[in-house]
Amino acid sequence: MSVSENPNRDFPNLPEQLNGLEDLAENLWWSWNPQARMLFKMLDRQAWKESGHNPDLMLRHLSSEILKNAATDPNYIRHYNLVMYHFNRYLNETPLWPRTPQDEDYGHIAYFSAEFGLHESLPFYAGGLGFLAGDHLKECSDLAVPIIGIGFMYPAGYLRQFINRDGWQDNHTQPMDREAASINRLLDENGEQLRISVPYINHTPVEAGIWEVSVGRVSLLLMDTDIEQNDPRFRSISQQLYTSDREKRLLQEIVLGIGGSKVLKARGSKCGMLHLNEGHAAFALLEKLREFVEQGDDFDRAKQRIRDMSLFTTHTPVVAGHDVFPFELIEKYFQTYWPKLGIGKEEFMDLGRHPERPDAGFNMTVLALKLSGKSNAVSRKHGEVTRHMWHALWPESEEKQIPIDHITNGVHLATWLEPKIRLLYNRYFGEGWYNAHDNPAIWEFIEEIPDRELWQTHYWLKLKLIDHIRHKARSRWYSGDTDPFQITGMGTMLDPSVLTLGFARRFTEYKRADLIFSDLERLKKMLHNPWRPVQIIFAGKSHPDDAKGHELIHRIFEFARSNELGGRVAFIENYNQHLAQYMVHGVDVWLNTPVPPMEASGTSGIKAAINGVPHLSIPDGWWLEGFNGKNGWNFGNEAEKQDRNNEDADQLCRLLEEEIIPKYYQADEDGVPHQWVRIMKETIKSCAPQFSARRMVREYIMKFYGTSK
Ligand SMILES: *Cc1c(COP(=O)(O)O)cnc(C)c1O
Repeated sequence: MSVSENPNRDFPNLPEQLNGLEDLAENLWWSWNPQARMLFKMLDRQAWKESGHNPDLMLRHLSSEILKNAATDPNYIRHYNLVMYHFNRYLNETPLWPRTPQDEDYGHIAYFSAEFGLHESLPFYAGGLGFLAGDHLKECSDLAVPIIGIGFMYPAGYLRQFINRDGWQDNHTQPMDREAASINRLLDENGEQLRISVPYINHTPVEAGIWEVSVGRVSLLLMDTDIEQNDPRFRSISQQLYTSDREKRLLQEIVLGIGGSKVLKARGSKCGMLHLNEGHAAFALLEKLREFVEQGDDFDRAKQRIRDMSLFTTHTPVVAGHDVFPFELIEKYFQTYWPKLGIGKEEFMDLGRHPERPDAGFNMTVLALKLSGKSNAVSRKHGEVTRHMWHALWPESEEKQIPIDHITNGVHLATWLEPKIRLLYNRYFGEGWYNAHDNPAIWEFIEEIPDRELWQTHYWLKLKLIDHIRHKARSRWYSGDTDPFQITGMGTMLDPSVLTLGFARRFTEYKRADLIFSDLERLKKMLHNPWRPVQIIFAGKSHPDDAKGHELIHRIFEFARSNELGGRVAFIENYNQHLAQYMVHGVDVWLNTPVPPMEASGTSGIKAAINGVPHLSIPDGWWLEGFNGKNGWNFGNEAEKQDRNNEDADQLCRLLEEEIIPKYYQADEDGVPHQWVRIMKETIKSCAPQFSARRMVREYIMKFYGTSK
């Protein structure tokens, strides 16, 4: 057993009356509670901003004078007491997870993921998969589901995106400062950081130090191989998310799966269920299997036992997106492993062999599907695609009968609702609405919000977004390392009165960021219409090794800085959670243009929708379940076909010209575009309950978590 570090250490200037701020700063609960964030911001707005909204970093550097003043300011103390009351109540509240006598036996659900998107100050994510994992943990905390997250600490930190003078993405990393973040070393009984060791990789085991992130009532445990005990070759295993070096990638996955299992053991956590978020951690299943064999089971019995307690969630609808390792590499690291399972080399390799591509290598998804008794895709459509894709593993079954279910993704409402919008809901939905927010009936109260109020709140958020963008552009200009064309492309000419489309996500080929530019003359007409103009805001990073993604960014940026588009197209640098929040709150329409059926679910459109930003999308992912004819727009169709860009773009433009633009600019005599607000309201009430992480986690409980032995 081990205990978390007593956090009474790092904030020497903190007066005793405000001691609670220390606990608050060390639990990410603050990140999804606007009043708690406000408590930090009230101390010193500028310092809050400069810290990157990181209370741990800020509290380290605030002067004792500022803190003493707060401690004697009755207004501050009033807020402080209220937030601390809610915080403590949250931590101790009666849990909602179905509490039965068996629950004690059940132990924890161990949730493995290579990335977790929790807050800007914790650089452990790349994109949608990470936010899904982060939102899952937050919602499990709200519902008191006994889950433990297992993942990596990536000390190299984020990729910071700069667009250089030639209009290309430059990649810089910004190392993570482990000491100044809402994370703590997990300590062993001697007060040292707990370490686990992973054999197989080297003749001496590779070690990983363990960090803990408190996500409300849930713990996330992160492994860090960048510690002095390790040979430099192995220190870098956890350096960076999704390395393209195959061998290092395999080592990462060995540490994630096998090391992760050891973390659970070291912490003394009984594990009732393994939940793998994507195949990267599938070795965790092997490790559990090995334990069963060690306890005396034969291989088949052990395999059945592991299948009884595991759930695999897949997110990738393209064959090439799944990890496959050359058999030689697997042999190099696992030749001492298969004897422990009581099987031979071929039987071991068969665990990861695709029946139709037997020589292609060891496939992590095949391994996960073979060893998980339950699996799911992340939207209805993605369920169909996934069953089709993996049919070969169930040659006897009809496609419909293949045991891969689906649970459509959702977002953690408290994290993604803009505070002013949430205040509106508080005012009109009645007390306690948040606790019932997956109930569609609550959302009918959207009709009580006067159109003017919703519209004005939205308009204010659009001003805030454009303000933020201009501020970013101004700092960039001021830094001197750029030229005027560049700055023009970064949004300096944006106008809050203009219909604004938003497109922000990872830049990768299938998402087709440039689809709307297919017929440039037609687009220009829309952008330059003197009475009813349109503007488009883009943001997104591309993986350093994704050449196509880099080209797309370059192409969009060329449009953004071209005088021919007149400053109506902007590309904003360095998309991250912070910028995502501004964008999903502040644009008028969220644009989504993937090649169907490549978007397994997508979540950014949901984040926009719950804030009243309607979706303009090709039918794919969550939107196939979300669109009801009144809450946004559908263009193109889901049929799979080649050379579809021109056709899709034509339909997209037609919708804009004939429906979206006229409706947006049709304000009634009172200056409010009531028809538009109608769509906003339909968007909110149809999407928020159905695509909330609450609905999603409840479904995981009912279908999978609750039925474990
Ligand atoms: C939500 C989110 C994503 C994922 O969005 P998709 O629509 O699923 O592509 C990626 N990055 C950030 C910063 C996000 O907030």
